[in-house]
Amino acid sequence: MKPSLAPTCGAARRAVLRSLSLLGAGVACPAFVRHARAADVPRFALGVASGHPAAAGVVLWTRLSGPDLPPQVEVAWELAHDEGFTRIAARGREVALAEDAHTVHAEPQGLEPGRGYWYRFTALGQQSAAGRTRTAPAPGAEVARLDFAIASCQRWDHGHWAAWRDVADGPLDLVLFLGDYLYEYATPARAAVVRRHEGGVASTLEQYRARYAQYKSDPLLQAAHAAAPWIVIWDDHEVANDYAGVQGERLEADFGQRRAAAYQAWWEHMPVPRALRPVQGGAAIYGRLDWGRLARLQWIDDRQYRDPQACAPVGRGGSNVVGERVCPALAEPQRTLLGAAQERWLAEGWSLQHPWNLLAQQTLMARWVHPPREAVAARDEGPRVWTDGWDGYPAARTRLLSTLAERRVPGAVVLGGDVHAHVVADLRADFRDERSPVVAAEFCGTSISSHGPPQARLQLQRQLNPHVHHARGDQRGSIRFVLTRERLDADLRAVVDIDDPASAVASQARFGVEAGRPGVASG
Ligand code: FE
Ligand code: CA
Repeated sequence: MKPSLAPTCGAARRAVLRSLSLLGAGVACPAFVRHARAADVPRFALGVASGHPAAAGVVLWTRLSGPDLPPQVEVAWELAHDEGFTRIAARGREVALAEDAHTVHAEPQGLEPGRGYWYRFTALGQQSAAGRTRTAPAPGAEVARLDFAIASCQRWDHGHWAAWRDVADGPLDLVLFLGDYLYEYATPARAAVVRRHEGGVASTLEQYRARYAQYKSDPLLQAAHAAAPWIVIWDDHEVANDYAGVQGERLEADFGQRRAAAYQAWWEHMPVPRALRPVQGGAAIYGRLDWGRLARLQWIDDRQYRDPQACAPVGRGGSNVVGERVCPALAEPQRTLLGAAQERWLAEGWSLQHPWNLLAQQTLMARWVHPPREAVAARDEGPRVWTDGWDGYPAARTRLLSTLAERRVPGAVVLGGDVHAHVVADLRADFRDERSPVVAAEFCGTSISSHGPPQARLQLQRQLNPHVHHARGDQRGSIRFVLTRERLDADLRAVVDIDDPASAVASQARFGVEAGRPGVASG
């Protein structure tokens, strides 16, 4: 034992117990100090979130933060009718476990349909900020309107997230997040960026958790989560760029392990039900929800079950831009983007009873032909397409879109992200046939912050793609929608200064879709 001139902590503590007058006498006691620190550390620094609303329930999420968390922490949650939490609708307790990164997925049941609620958490003597959420309307309810937004692709080191403040300003019933919640990359050492990823490339469970914690520390993202319930799907970067099924871009032997770690971390950090916890490295994240009698919403997973991209660069997996004539594999009819089971599930899920059918998915569905390469134009490779999106799986796309035509599915609208540009397009049942009918409108939203393609290139490409009404890759943002029985109105939002978290956010363009008339109606 180390000799000391100072009184021992045990002695000091006993002295405190003997006489309160000793408080503040200046005896430093490690045990006391550690306790004082633990109380000071914010335990809800990663915010709160809600998601997957149903008519009678919703998922409430948080993750405890700070060092020295015990393996199990009891977390109480409350759901109230009012912001002051005077009229409690439901309350309960969950145990946040170290093995789940101290995340909480609370699932209140028996709530009233179509109502707004407030929620908050309490643990370790601290209370979280309060979030707003709402339940879905009863399935048979007449609902006048749905206010929602789509968003995707929030790369931390590409800018600030004023786009999220714009979403948080709402008011919205629902936010659909369509993939690339985080990026696995390291920030290049010499990149001139406004903020950097902590750590290197994420590939282990601990690294993905740390990356989620960094992203979730952003106050504007927290505000958007706290403003409305989200429905969340993943794309590639929650795991790794351009992966397909269990194949990584570099054909790594252990990619399945990396995907399993990434899926676990995704489940931990998203406001999704406990039932979506990955089992044996997989999770069926696709689903559907009826917003009363107004709309059926379906969301799908185009990563987990897809075939590898056709005609990858030599010795690699992942995407490519290839001519259709020099890549016959593209057209193979059995190639799948969704997997057979999900494809069947979706084909059977379209509603003929609702005026609107919304499909939330990851990427651009419209055909997007690239200009020929100058040097080889004479050889005629055929139309050049990007193999990671729906253009890489044209037979699967034709199956999906011709189902819309054959069944006369009302009000089909496809929502997407991934391409870091606002794109508005008409979807034809078969893009190989210009006379084939328009069966749906597509709104593909630009990124929250990830860099986009040069606008000059998009301008050029638009001329090759007459079904595209609008394509802007030079601005970041989200798309805000108002849906009524008569029409869908889309406001393409655009951040003025991506380097400024306080930036203004303005309207870039507006488009509409009329009930009963497939495709985009107007600007
Ligand atoms: Fe992205
Ligand atoms: Ca992506």
